[in-house]
Amino acid sequence: MKGEGKFIVGGNWKCNGTTESIAQLISDLNAGTITKDLEVVCAPPFVYLAQTQASLGPPFEIAAQNVWTGAGGAYTGEISADMIKDLGINWTITGHSERRALCGESNEIVAEKTAYALSLGLKVIVCIGESLEERQNGSTLAVCCAQLKAVAEVVSDWSNIVIAYEPIWAIGTGVVATPEQAQETHAGIRKWLAAAVSPEVASKMRIQYGGSVNAGNCDVLAQQDDIDGFLVGGASLQGDSFITICNSA
Ligand code: PGA
Repeated sequence: MKGEGKFIVGGNWKCNGTTESIAQLISDLNAGTITKDLEVVCAPPFVYLAQTQASLGPPFEIAAQNVWTGAGGAYTGEISADMIKDLGINWTITGHSERRALCGESNEIVAEKTAYALSLGLKVIVCIGESLEERQNGSTLAVCCAQLKAVAEVVSDWSNIVIAYEPIWAIGTGVVATPEQAQETHAGIRKWLAAAVSPEVASKMRIQYGGSVNAGNCDVLAQQDDIDGFLVGGASLQGDSFITICNSA
């Protein structure tokens, strides 16, 4: 079962780029032909948000890659959701596995960030996903649902949330989940949402797949029943590949 609304593709540029390379990427994206009616959101590093916002045209929208858990203050090195909103940016990612693993973000911290960003009216792509060990020991859905349960404890309105299912073992590895693996997990997430949140939220939720999505594997993934979009890392840094992925919608 598909979620409600348009197919949604995110480009997570992570900690990559220079003023020059980002100008080139933006120019390549602006020159690309998007033939599908979809939502597409690019997440540059914070320092390039203004540059991206000034030059990346529609249909591309812009997202932050991360936000702080609450309003601004004495949090050296952090960026608040208020600042993102102040820039006129409507989206943020939360809970990317790199932040969970490298920056110690627990399920509760990710949930807090998500709730705060939503409270300001931002739309949030919440990332979840299991490690290789967790997949191998059969706990994939338990891990993903625990990550979502923390969100459910502090969020009641899910209408501005998009879930990105990103198995950690597939991120940046070139080892993409098989269409069957991705579909099975997406369906399991939707089933959990129906039981733990509501059938309405479950049927409307858009669930992106992320992890080694590229121009060659996107079409078959996009055809899966419960895949409503992609969150793309490496291939989003190449304009032509990213446009091809958008057109797989
Ligand atoms: P990848 O990254 O496409 O490079 O695997 C995906 C992500 O981390 O969002």
